[in-house]
Amino acid sequence: MQHIVLTGDRPTGPLHLGHYFGSLANRVALQDTYPMYVLIADYQVITDRDRPGDIQRNVTGLLLDYLAVGLDPAKVTIFRHSAIPELNQLMLPFLSLVSVAELSRNPTVKDEIAHSSQRAVNGLMFTYPVHQAADILFCKGTLVPVGRDQLPHVEMTRLVARRFNERYGEVFPEPEAMLSDGSLVKGLDGGKMSKSRGNAIPLSAGEDETAALIRKARTDSERLITFDEQARPEVANLLTLASLCLGRPPRELADEIGYGGAAALKRLVTDAVNDFLRPIRRRRREHTEEEVHAALAEGNRRARERAITTLDEVRAAMKF
Ligand code: ATP
Ligand code: MG
Repeated sequence: MQHIVLTGDRPTGPLHLGHYFGSLANRVALQDTYPMYVLIADYQVITDRDRPGDIQRNVTGLLLDYLAVGLDPAKVTIFRHSAIPELNQLMLPFLSLVSVAELSRNPTVKDEIAHSSQRAVNGLMFTYPVHQAADILFCKGTLVPVGRDQLPHVEMTRLVARRFNERYGEVFPEPEAMLSDGSLVKGLDGGKMSKSRGNAIPLSAGEDETAALIRKARTDSERLITFDEQARPEVANLLTLASLCLGRPPRELADEIGYGGAAALKRLVTDAVNDFLRPIRRRRREHTEEEVHAALAEGNRRARERAITTLDEVRAAMKF
């Protein structure tokens, strides 16, 4: 099948190992085979915070991260929400296709509300999954490489596509999510590794910074290192991070450490992460800000062209 791939990230901070194993690795692998769109979801930043923060700096950081992991802007259309007003126009009919009850019971939205620092939950928090449906459907995306937290949103997109087609005639494909092996990478506190939860290892962090982050991770006082996700989740999580970076089973790493205790475990994890990220960090330094912004401008232009075509089709189907 000839897929069209779409994924994206919020410009809320530097990309981390969770992004790499949850999504970026798949993107890099797919870019040679299928047309791909990568979205910088700037409007989605204000779902769970009052202000967008230093959004320009974060956008530049994302672009550098993308190029560092090997995304090629000649093959991939990289664009940002705010450059494509047609996306917002698509969202309006889409919002009319889902019920308030469906918007309120989205488990990822509930989790994000629980972790939000906002005193009052805003309307965008409930409607952004529909915005995301517009992000995926504007380019008739069929394959969405994401982490596990995004599954409810992809389900919402399928629902929107199905209902639109039923109501107005066949316009949209029903996209599928593509989960990777590391589809939910945990952070140094045991929760989902997230840019905004202070528990992440950024791809762009320095080697000493990485060592300091891992040093702070919680473990236990047993000398013998074993891989037991139920009984020793903190140790298991560190072993899993190393396992992802080394491409070796976590049990084998535990056996190797044996009676070395937390210190040997952390040393192994730090080396594994730093070795793994070294070429990525090197490539990141090879790109200039001018270069990545030129790539974004070209991506915005291509994405907008595509969005205008789809919006025309949608309006025609709705007899507007
Ligand atoms: P924020 O804390 O600002 O929400 P985030 O770290 O959750 O940031 P997003 O920009 O929301 O990152 O997510 C971008 C993509 O990365 C999504 O496809 C998401 O599923 C994936 N992703 C994010 N965190 C992880 C993780 N810990 N493990 C696997 N995939 C992840
Ligand atoms: Mg998130």
